[in-house]
Amino acid sequence: MAADTDLGQIVMLKLGANNPATKPALTDELVASVKTKTSAALNLLSAAASEFGANNITFANSFGAEDMVLTDIIQRNQLAIEIFSLDTGRLPIETYDLIAQTEKTYHTKLKIFFPQAEAVETYVRTNGINAFYESIDLRKACCFMRKVEPLQRALKGKKAWVTGMRAEQSTTRVNLPFREFDTGNKLEKFNPLSDWTEQEVWAYIRLHEVPYNKLHDQFYPSIGCAPCTRAITSGEDVRAGRWWWEDPNNKECGLHVKK
Ligand code: SF4
Repeated sequence: MAADTDLGQIVMLKLGANNPATKPALTDELVASVKTKTSAALNLLSAAASEFGANNITFANSFGAEDMVLTDIIQRNQLAIEIFSLDTGRLPIETYDLIAQTEKTYHTKLKIFFPQAEAVETYVRTNGINAFYESIDLRKACCFMRKVEPLQRALKGKKAWVTGMRAEQSTTRVNLPFREFDTGNKLEKFNPLSDWTEQEVWAYIRLHEVPYNKLHDQFYPSIGCAPCTRAITSGEDVRAGRWWWEDPNNKECGLHVKK
């Protein structure tokens, strides 16, 4: 299977890992553009917090580089936006380390949602522990059980949510607006980093010493569950390492798909 073949490649990349993309040269031009975009993101988030109120707007933190930028902006400015996260039960160890580090750095406890135990037991007993490699339907069923259903619980009663999505991340995100109505989840959705480049994200992280997932240094630009994420090679799309055995136009987990 492709997954087995590619696993050898992942190990090879990890051994020599020192991804230059996570350490961009902090030129005056880059620092200025990060400053401008940070102000714009802060203004958007502040306005959204005022418009919807503290109990009605929430930020989905999946601990990717973009989400750590937003976490820092929200915490540093004490914005009235709740932060939550989904623990699928299949996350890489590095992500758990980052969760602990984030709570320590910002002196907070994150609101973490888990899948329903009974649904996981039924899926695994029926299909197998790694059944997501076998078909798109089984992969999507796993994502639904471990991500979408917990997300629906996290968003229940909320009027707006915030994500760290960027337009350049994927062919499925090219026209991503800063604000849109999420017809799938039926609430307002804010994407404050929509126009940020990968370089700007990393410049922010370096300038503000934001904690980040160490897998990024090992050529993992986009990190999800451990068995469904691999490192990428030079020139590949930043989300090429997610569900790498599938068609690139079909690679979303259901959290951001429009209905
Ligand atoms: S990313 Fe993989 S392991 Fe995680 S929920 Fe989706 S299919 Fe399951």
